[in-house]
Amino acid sequence: MAYVRSVPRAWRERQNKYRLIGGTCKDCGKTFYPYRGICPVCGSSNVEAKKLPETGTIETFSVVRTPPTEFTGQAPYVVALVRLDDGTLVPAQITDVEPEEVQVGMRVEAVFRRYREQGEKGIIEYGIKFRPVVNLESK
Ligand SMILES: [Zn+2]
Repeated sequence: MAYVRSVPRAWRERQNKYRLIGGTCKDCGKTFYPYRGICPVCGSSNVEAKKLPETGTIETFSVVRTPPTEFTGQAPYVVALVRLDDGTLVPAQITDVEPEEVQVGMRVEAVFRRYREQGEKGIIEYGIKFRPVVNLESK
C-alpha cells in the first residue's frame, strides 16, 4: 500500500482506505491511479491527491487463467482497464461476475476487497476491484 503511505499526512488522516484515491499533476494536468508523489507522465513532483469517481466503464480486459502464486485459487479472474467517469484509467480486477459475462463498455463500480494475506505478520492487503453496476436504483 505504498501509495497510501505517500499521501501527505494531514490529508491521509481524513481519508480512509475505502476510497479511490488518485493523483492529479498540477504541471501537465493528468490524473492517474494509484496516487504517487511523482507524475508518471511528466515526472513532476507537483502532484496532488484526488478522490476519483467510483464508477466507470470497462475499456479493455483479459481473463487470467494462470495467475502468480499468491493469487492461486482465484483463477480464472478478469483484469481490466476501467475508464472512470472523469477519464482516468485504472487497472483493476473485476469481481462478482463470471469471466464470460464481462464485456467492453460494461458499467462498473469500485468495491474494496481483501485480496491477499501474507505470512508471518499476517499483513492483509486491501485493494480496489470493480464489479458490474447491475441496477442503479437498487443501490
Ligand atoms: Zn505531469
